[in-house]
Amino acid sequence: MPQRFCAICGKILDEKSPHFGMCKTCYFKENPLFELATNFKLKICLDCYRYSKKEEWIKPTEEDFLLIIKEAVYNILLKSMEKNIDITFSIDLNESSLEFSSKDLITSLELIITGKSSERPMISNEQVVKVNIIYDLCDNCTNLRSGNYFTSILQIRVKNSNYFDILKSILDQINVVVDKEFIKDDRQYISKIVDQKYGLDIYLSTNELMNYIISYLKSRYHFLLKRSKKLVGRDSQRGKGIYRLKTLIKFLPIKKNDIIEIDNQKFIVEQILKNKVILKNKKNEKLVKSFDYFFNN
Ligand SMILES: [Zn+2]
Ligand SMILES: [Zn+2]
Repeated sequence: MPQRFCAICGKILDEKSPHFGMCKTCYFKENPLFELATNFKLKICLDCYRYSKKEEWIKPTEEDFLLIIKEAVYNILLKSMEKNIDITFSIDLNESSLEFSSKDLITSLELIITGKSSERPMISNEQVVKVNIIYDLCDNCTNLRSGNYFTSILQIRVKNSNYFDILKSILDQINVVVDKEFIKDDRQYISKIVDQKYGLDIYLSTNELMNYIISYLKSRYHFLLKRSKKLVGRDSQRGKGIYRLKTLIKFLPIKKNDIIEIDNQKFIVEQILKNKVILKNKKNEKLVKSFDYFFNN
């Protein structure tokens, strides 16, 4: 067999050459496995490191800043390519490429992106992409910083000032529950708490959080619950109304085994059910009262 030469660089070709007239190096220069723009702008939230992909803020799974950048570049640029063509990417950081702002924030860096054909691992391509980082605030952090964003109001009330200790202990418990939820998901938080005559209005970031607190309280206390909603605007994108949800919770001023007086007769609180209370007098006679009764009398 006569010797063949690369048409571009003149190197002698062998059986393994990927193309009849070109060596491997020249062939993949002409027909790269993938091509990326050499510059890439990445928008990152200054407070929480969520990154922006198509107008959406994505919460990274990584915690380290440089790993978050890699994760974002992979998800935004490479992931869909991996699906469409038979390729596997790996990303390396060029350590000496880091540039910083006057406030020591990383403003740009270079990533070395290597893609290998999964079927033919000898075929690979490497490209350097300069990532320019733009710092912004995501919607959630904008709301958090403003300190007055809320979607729901939980109104907790006791019968009168004799129950303020209970109210305080309930608020402490709610704070603990919400702090735990916030650590798991930073969209769940209390925006503000406003004192009312016999209770508190707790302004919450999500309706989901309100329901979570209600179910927490339900497993520990007895109360009257009233939900309401108010139209406050319109979501033009979804063509739906925006509602502010309110839940009023009135804690029952009695507990099991309390002794209470009704019409000069003493009763013991025998059982508290979902909406009613079972009382018994000394003669063991039963009396059933609805929750309402205890707020009105
Ligand atoms: Zn060549
Ligand atoms: Zn953020």
